[in-house]
Amino acid sequence: MMLIKNATLYAPEYRGLADILVVGEQVVQVSAPGGSSALPNTKEIDARGRAVCPGFIDNHVHVLGGGGGLGFRSRVPELQTSQLTRVGTTTVIGMLGYDQSTKDMRGLLGKTKGFIGDGISAFALTGATLRHPVPTLTGDLCDDIAFIDSIIGVGEISISELGYGYDSLGPGAQYIAETLVQALLVGRLAGKGGILCLQVPPYFEQCLKPLFEMLDKSHMPIEQMVPSHVNQTDGYMADAITWGNRGGWVDVGANYRPDNHYARSTQPAEAVTQLIEAGVPLQKILISSDGNGAPPKEEKGEAVPTRANYGHVGSLHMVWRQLIEQDRLKPEEALTLVTSNVATAYHLKNKGRVDVGMDADLVFFDENWNVDTVVARGKVMVEDRNIVVRGMFETTILEGLK
Ligand SMILES: [Zn+2]
Repeated sequence: MMLIKNATLYAPEYRGLADILVVGEQVVQVSAPGGSSALPNTKEIDARGRAVCPGFIDNHVHVLGGGGGLGFRSRVPELQTSQLTRVGTTTVIGMLGYDQSTKDMRGLLGKTKGFIGDGISAFALTGATLRHPVPTLTGDLCDDIAFIDSIIGVGEISISELGYGYDSLGPGAQYIAETLVQALLVGRLAGKGGILCLQVPPYFEQCLKPLFEMLDKSHMPIEQMVPSHVNQTDGYMADAITWGNRGGWVDVGANYRPDNHYARSTQPAEAVTQLIEAGVPLQKILISSDGNGAPPKEEKGEAVPTRANYGHVGSLHMVWRQLIEQDRLKPEEALTLVTSNVATAYHLKNKGRVDVGMDADLVFFDENWNVDTVVARGKVMVEDRNIVVRGMFETTILEGLK
């Protein structure tokens, strides 16, 4: 048991001062301060002066490491648990990226189970960016979603990797449509979202246009897809505004920034403002890191890229804090983009809120919105800025022989 006292609670809506009682992995009571009494052997944390919020959900992370695309030396290492918890992320949705040659679904599921063993929550999407049909664990996309608990959808699937428009002319959109309907229907069978995460190369002004055409023809629900990093170019942002106004999710990429070598991108915090001002409902906007990948840098004048552009998972927290500090959104509004909206989009029933019956995924922030303490599934992972739980080999790798 754990009793968190005197928290300034954002659930994500502002709830004022509260005590939060945790039993096992769940929140069992939220009451006014002093409203809960601790039994013996209950861990008590006085959260006075700190905001307690739902743990962040990062919906797009290359947990095995991205492919790099600059030879085998640029294969990114696997993400470690404390890289997520130290930035307030307690739930991660992992997926393969463009390297489906040296990384596969077995590795992804192994990594997902490892995260769960460490104490955080982890889910996976079946598939990979480029290959159609997508690689799967069982040999069948529907079986993956139906029978593997951790697999909740499909992605990230590119409609046309690297911007060459050939796939967008027909087969790409057709394949997305086929995959979409399979994931949707088997998701209903298995009681999961069956959501499809889309990689949309924003070149040749195609962006989401083949998908609008596909939706117009098929009448499939737009909410089954999550287009990623919509702030990559102005053209993609324009399509994302239409997408959001038609009821679709729009996912802003926290690592897609001009100061992070994406010269044509809109700053993520500014992108959120632009989407809202253009009429996209706040509850349809998500932010993800697309972290632990390393696409080649977009260098001007270079025919062939020579450097990889690593995406930090910590960008999610950084952009979220910017939304508050730059007075773009109130804390409780900004929180929805990384907590409750994501849980709704991906049908994660026990995630994204602090309330009775929900998983005890909690982040405590200091007055400057720095991550102070993190609880994941009722277990303290970070306390007073010190990392309490690490992956099994993190310390050994970081500190070497002793
Ligand atoms: Zn990605």
